[in-house]
Amino acid sequence: MTPLYIDAHCHLHSFNDERIHYFLSQNFFIIAVSEDLNSSIRSIELSKLSSRIYPCIGIHPWEFSEETEREINRLSNLINEISCLGEIGLDYRYGKVSKEKQICFFKKLIRLAVEYDLKLNLHALDSWRDVFNMIVRFDIKKAIFHWYSGPIDLLKDFESKGYFITINPCVRFQKKHSKVLQHSPLSIILTESDGPYEYKGVSLEPNLIPELINYISDVKEISRRDLLRIIVRNVSKFLDMDISKLKSQNIKNRSYKL
Ligand SMILES: [Zn+2]
Repeated sequence: MTPLYIDAHCHLHSFNDERIHYFLSQNFFIIAVSEDLNSSIRSIELSKLSSRIYPCIGIHPWEFSEETEREINRLSNLINEISCLGEIGLDYRYGKVSKEKQICFFKKLIRLAVEYDLKLNLHALDSWRDVFNMIVRFDIKKAIFHWYSGPIDLLKDFESKGYFITINPCVRFQKKHSKVLQHSPLSIILTESDGPYEYKGVSLEPNLIPELINYISDVKEISRRDLLRIIVRNVSKFLDMDISKLKSQNIKNRSYKL
């Protein structure tokens, strides 16, 4: 049986139609994150193509502006169509608005998650511990820290809370991230592409996941097969559904116009 590859953090809406159809024809399960209102609407539309696309809506911390408050209100109209917010969080390195403002907007989004019992797909660059403390305070049960390259000692806290991290293909050359992989228990690991994104000459996209699996299986000294099984189990736990049961080629509506 062809294995199912997990991309737990992908900006699917930013790929062109041809590429999206290609990913759908391959064995990928994609958690499709959004950055603003328009991409949120598009992620929801894309999820209607296949049960292998899982939509998240949200406002990326890089997109925070004077409009954010109004945008969050409009976003809340889409909430009954989804069960995950992302990509949301804080970014103390590249954020364009002040730390205080970011925290204020992020809190509003977390409150929505609490009210509607939503999972979180998180961006927490240089704010790892703050984001962790905030979601713990709000008693968030399900969260993914995407492309985790924060403090190693937080990994055990993630494990005890049942939170997950994603490993990105750039782990091959990104020192901090590779240290994270070495120290992470397999029970908290998911794979991601964060595509389409150019990072240091690498064009990130779901197609890099099979190679990433090879790399992780070498580092963690585990067979590819067992690793894939663990990652499918982890994502199923995060989503509260057994994704190994999803049939291949499960495209709900082939004539759906992208
Ligand atoms: Zn992202």
